[in-house]
Amino acid sequence: MLKRFVSLALCCALILISFCSCNTEQGEQKLQKFSVTYIEYFDTASTIVGYEETEEEFDVICEFIEKELKTYNNLYDIYKSYESVNNVRTINLNAGKEPVKVDTRIIDLLDYCKEIYTITDGTVNVAMGSVLSIWHDYRTWGINSPATAELPPMERLKDSAKHTNIEKVVIDRENSTVFLSDSEMLLDVGAVAKGYATECIAKALKEKGVDNYALNIGGNIRTIGTKGDGTPWSAAVTNPDKTSEEPYLMSVCLKDQVFVTSGSYERFYTVKGVNYHHIINPETLMPENTFSSVSILANDSGLADALSTAVFNMTYEEGKKLIESLEGVEAMWVTAENELLYSNGFKDIIIE
Ligand code: ADP
Ligand code: MG
Repeated sequence: MLKRFVSLALCCALILISFCSCNTEQGEQKLQKFSVTYIEYFDTASTIVGYEETEEEFDVICEFIEKELKTYNNLYDIYKSYESVNNVRTINLNAGKEPVKVDTRIIDLLDYCKEIYTITDGTVNVAMGSVLSIWHDYRTWGINSPATAELPPMERLKDSAKHTNIEKVVIDRENSTVFLSDSEMLLDVGAVAKGYATECIAKALKEKGVDNYALNIGGNIRTIGTKGDGTPWSAAVTNPDKTSEEPYLMSVCLKDQVFVTSGSYERFYTVKGVNYHHIINPETLMPENTFSSVSILANDSGLADALSTAVFNMTYEEGKKLIESLEGVEAMWVTAENELLYSNGFKDIIIE
């Protein structure tokens, strides 16, 4: 529970969606702003903001969104099992044993993760769960018991890294099964699942004709259309420099787009005065300390989530090359020395 509240606080601090408080006219109808926050899904806070004529209309949409969030959360969970659901954890529990029959939405996610592996040149690898679980255990221990915090032994990390070949994630779409053919392999979909699920939900909402909504799922901000008066949404970017008096670096505007930030200040623990965060470079098997945060603007929330993790593991030059090669994608890097670096078009979305 405490973790949830910490996540909630982090999330609220991470990015605030700011809104015009006035009710505006659209045609004959007056649209009002409504919002709701859930803390039960993806181990983070999810805030939904929408413009509707009545609260009842907003509630109907949110009921749908919450149902979807719950479904995706249960399917993509790697830590918990749920009654009568085969989820990603079930696949992990059956590594090297047998193919697991799963919902198409898991097949779709894992196919997308393979695509992401290719796009990011292996810097986002969901088959790296064996390595990531070691870091997860040491981080959890270190957060709960700072005086005895330690780094994972490199030998153990290297041994686990032998079991991260994504080719061994065998997807059989026809039979709707997934099999990890390496018995020591584990999936960790944490870098992509939340953003991917957010995109699926946004698409379903659009198909229903929903407009003028913003979903902030743990900092993955997906806007659908504009605000009620046709003006763009705005999101404030957290200042990763916690010694600064300025909590935010800037605001950016969004219109039917996604904005995601990955920061080394989000989830970390401290060993001998050095902070170790939760994004692990597959080459070094360590967290990189080049950047304090990376923000991504994109049209697709799954891609934005994956890229925010990928770019963290690259040099600025490598990351910039990748970002510039992708249509509709922009990025901003905050270096460990608090220097701001941008992709070519990022400055166009800065409001203040
Ligand atoms: P968050 O979900 O906290 O906003 P990210 O989207 O950057 O942050 O995802 C971080 C999570 O992704 C980690 O907690 C871990 O589960 C997983 N992860 C970390 N490094 C990698 C990597 N190189 N490839 C794939 N997954 C990773
Ligand atoms: Mg990510």
